[in-house]
Amino acid sequence: MNALYLVAIGSVPEQAMDWIDSAASEWYPLPIRRLPALSTPEGAYDPKRQQYQSVEIMKTVAQAAPRDAHRVLGVTNVDLAIPMLSFLFGQAQLDGRVAVVSLCRLRQEFYGLPADNRVLRERTVKEVLHELGHTFGLVHCREPRCVMSLATHIGLVDSKEQKYCERCGMQLVERFSSLEAEV
Ligand SMILES: [Zn+2]
Ligand SMILES: [Zn+2]
Repeated sequence: MNALYLVAIGSVPEQAMDWIDSAASEWYPLPIRRLPALSTPEGAYDPKRQQYQSVEIMKTVAQAAPRDAHRVLGVTNVDLAIPMLSFLFGQAQLDGRVAVVSLCRLRQEFYGLPADNRVLRERTVKEVLHELGHTFGLVHCREPRCVMSLATHIGLVDSKEQKYCERCGMQLVERFSSLEAEV
């Protein structure tokens, strides 16, 4: 069966990769494999904004996807942006193969607070489930506690739960059953 691949872009703590691995395996009925870390593409850096262009990171992740990749999720520590938005927690192809998540703004240190691994883990799990949900065709949900709700700032990430609401969860299950019919 085709796999969900995880890949670090640049240096990402192994522990964060482990959190992501276990969250993804809890929700997604796919084998999860890890690729060797990739370096951050230099061309992605925007010196004016001191951020990285998410589109370039997405391309790097897409290129690294093995042939049997059902989905590939990139994880980075750098701050991501796109021209129209001042920052992104992550990005995904809707109903596509590729997604990225940035840990940068999930860290308490980004907001001048002491590091907190528990908070970082919760936020990471939420963002991963959110972006993977998009790759399986889920759109933004109006239920603020659902992991698929749109979070434009960290407070909204914190008010989500680490799970899909019933409706989004049902949609995922339907997608999975059609997947199983394909393979
Ligand atoms: Zn979204
Ligand atoms: Zn929902």
